[in-house]
Amino acid sequence: QCISHCPTGALRERNDIPKVFDILADPEKITIVQIAPAVRTAWGESLGLPEDVATEKRMAAALKQVGFDYVFDTNFAADLTIMEEANELLKRLPEIKESGLPMFTSCCPAWVRFMKSQYPQAAGRLSTAKSPQQMFGAVAKTYFAQKLNVSPDKICCISVMPCVAKKGEAAIPAMDVTGTGPDVDIVLTTRELTRLITAEHIKPELLEEVEFDSPLSENTGAGVLFGTTGGVMEAALRTAVFALTGNNPDPKGFGEVRGGEGQKEAVYFVDGTMVRTCTVSGLKNARLLMDDIMEKRKDYDFVEVMACPGGCVGGGGQPIWEDVKMTPQRSAKLYELDEERSLRYSHENPTIQRLYEEFLGEPLSEKSHHLLHTN
Ligand code: SF4
Repeated sequence: QCISHCPTGALRERNDIPKVFDILADPEKITIVQIAPAVRTAWGESLGLPEDVATEKRMAAALKQVGFDYVFDTNFAADLTIMEEANELLKRLPEIKESGLPMFTSCCPAWVRFMKSQYPQAAGRLSTAKSPQQMFGAVAKTYFAQKLNVSPDKICCISVMPCVAKKGEAAIPAMDVTGTGPDVDIVLTTRELTRLITAEHIKPELLEEVEFDSPLSENTGAGVLFGTTGGVMEAALRTAVFALTGNNPDPKGFGEVRGGEGQKEAVYFVDGTMVRTCTVSGLKNARLLMDDIMEKRKDYDFVEVMACPGGCVGGGGQPIWEDVKMTPQRSAKLYELDEERSLRYSHENPTIQRLYEEFLGEPLSEKSHHLLHTN
């Protein structure tokens, strides 16, 4: 509304599509595109595609048609985020119990910014794990650049996100692990993706489905869940239980953290340790929750916050429909995809296991800290 009512036109939605066309026209550049979990739930809406046509694999086909060299899946990096964040939670649990303050998720840049500006005294309680977008960029410009035997500055990493705040996150100066420029060079929203497809006169309904490229795409149901409120929490608990007990929990065992508005509280016992969780979406709810925590009216161990109501499926970069709330059906799509995946736990992702074996060592290793965490 602000954009359409601004009398001088000074407020405009940022359009990064021209940057993509410039990069695609540069024969020296290798273009890599990553697609966030929530984008697949909404990319076909503005194109008028029925749900059975707007599939993940057809979205990959459309991006191939645009001309990107590699089409990868941010879900892969969501699994990587879980490996780091679940292990960080377990490592920090004694300190959490002692201080009476929880660890907060850090994959939503709008929430991180809100926390740092409104509750700076608690900012040290944020997880240090980068978001999947930024972990992907760091891995693409190091591990994958080595596999291609090219310098990282030959690679242009583009991401398609449901989110406007991700453009700001990619531009944070510290998000440059190779010292050759941003780990993620260009961020497009879901709305920009549909405009890009339209501008290229691509008719996705006429395309055959294609597989995402290897290796930075393989993912599990846990990674898929990142796109909806409660998803990070659920995915992290699946892996935290395995890390402590050596056994996979029932993937349906954390349903209490799912969906809805307001605060969703749940208590789990992980190998005898009580983990009190809360998930919340929307900054109004986040403020109420933070006030409760800071005033010691509420006590948790692990808290997930997403700035957009419903999480990334309702993100500011997704198609907007007046008077229609799309988040429930978009979230339902992600839960469906989680159930369809043959693997449901991030720690079972074979490509993630290989990444640790060949390159990172283990979760929270020195190299993992350098590439995948912030201070
Ligand atoms: Fe971006 Fe909203 Fe998702 Fe946060 S919840 S990462 S602001 S889309």
